[in-house]
Order: sequence, then C-alpha cells, then structure tokens
Amino acid sequence: MSRPPLGRIGAFLAALSLAFVTAPAAADWVEPWSTLAGPSGGPPAIWGRYDQGCIGGAVALDLDGPGFQVIYPQRRRNYGHPETLDFVRDLGAAMQALGHGPINVADIGQVRGGPITGHASHESGLDVDVWYRLDLAPLPVEERRGLGEVSAIGADGAVDPAHWGEAQVALVRLAAEDPRIARIFVHAGVKADLCARDWPDRDWLRVLVPEPAHDRHMHVRLNCPADQPGCEGQAAPPAGTGCAGDDDPGDLGPDRLAAYGSPGQPRPPGVLPPACGRLFTAPSVR
Ligand SMILES: [Zn+2]
Repeated sequence: MSRPPLGRIGAFLAALSLAFVTAPAAADWVEPWSTLAGPSGGPPAIWGRYDQGCIGGAVALDLDGPGFQVIYPQRRRNYGHPETLDFVRDLGAAMQALGHGPINVADIGQVRGGPITGHASHESGLDVDVWYRLDLAPLPVEERRGLGEVSAIGADGAVDPAHWGEAQVALVRLAAEDPRIARIFVHAGVKADLCARDWPDRDWLRVLVPEPAHDRHMHVRLNCPADQPGCEGQAAPPAGTGCAGDDDPGDLGPDRLAAYGSPGQPRPPGVLPPACGRLFTAPSVR
C-alpha cells in the first residue's frame, strides 16, 4: 500500500491509472458486481478494504436532498454505508446554509460495493467523490446526463480562479473538519492553495492527501464505522499539516507521502475477502 513520491514515478503511475480507466480493454470489461440487482438484506456489514472489499446491507443515497444532488443517477453508484450517506447529507446542508451549492455527488459505490470499473477503490461503501464544481442549479434527474466535471486546476498546476474560489474552499474545509472522515484525496494544487491561506486552526489540513487526477473532484474517504469489525481501514495520516510552510517537511517529503498510503491499487479480479464471495450470491431484498 505504499506509494512513491510525486515526480516522475508518480506522474507515470497517474498516466498508467488513467490509461487503465480509458483503455478499450477496460471499457469492454463489465465488472460482475455492477450487474447485481440490489443490496443484500440485513444490517450494514463491511468486509475488507477500500480497494478490496464489499458491503452488505448498503443503502442508497436519495438522488436529491437539501443541498445535494446525485450527478450520475444512471450509474447506480449511489450506494454506501449509512454513515457515508449521513456525511453527504450533512455536507450538503452545511454548504446550503453558507449559500453555496448544491454539491454534486458523483460515485459512492455499487449496490454491494465490490470492484467498480474506473476506480481502484470505492469498494466498501466508504468512499465518495464530490465535484469541486458548484455552479449547477438543482437539476431534474433527466437533465443531469452528459454534464461534465470541470478542473479547478490551471495549466500551471495551481488552482484556476475561474473554477476555484471561496465556495470550493468551504467545501473542502467542511469535509476535512468532519470527524467521520479518514482522509481526502485532492490535487496538489488544491492543497497548496489551502495551505497558503491563513487559518485560526490548521489541524484539518492534515487529512488532505495530494493525489494526481483529483483536479475535478475531491475523493472523501470515511473511517471504518465503530461497529464494523470486518472493515479494514488505513493508518491515520502522519501528524502535521503536510504544508511546506509549516513545521514539518511538507508533502514533498517522501516519508510523508509514503505514510499517506495509497488511495487504492488495481488488482487481479477475484481478490476479495471470502465473505464477499458469499455476499455476491446472497438474495437481493430491494
Ligand atoms: Zn474517488
């Protein structure tokens, strides 16, 4: 689960992961977990890791709610652990109270989690992608098809003021201050912008992990809920903010990058906890 420092190797891996998503061979492959009819019954039960796991008793996030909308409703990837859904609802409501939004919620997970095309994680119902883009009105479901993400990063690798401002800053900060979250993957330019600002409390910057390919959305990862012994989490991010100007080496230090852990690793099909095999064949309840 270690990852190399940013730079040539990181850029190569980022290119590789993008290739993994868009290559014809990958596009032709339908993950069998995406074809399941619905969640299994019973209370929520998470098995395994963010990148090698599944979830029984998953719950669907409503396609609309106060301050949020599910932006790819046709994908059926709005399923997750109830705590993830609560997090999204709370974030939407908090942004709405500040006069921003609605927030646009992209993929959470499939009806039973599991391997999901286009992602190396999002398997255990605890990961959620939220667009930085906040300029969309609440839209009827049928008008959400074909909408695109917008990059918050300019050609120089820094945030682009045309697509990054106080609303986006509030979005990331609110999420990062939530005690339910484990870390948030953001583009390095996003973290650099947030580090450069004056804050009365900088502790929340600790959970922001710079990660290529997160220039259009933040990827929020929740901790394993307390009642989920089958859930495998990750070590907490290293102490300190990771900001180069603070009293630590900053995110450019290779030790810190390694300690952040990987967002997820592509792996051969079938590598899952045994409980996921049983979950795959369990009947659907809804
Ligand atoms: Zn994600």
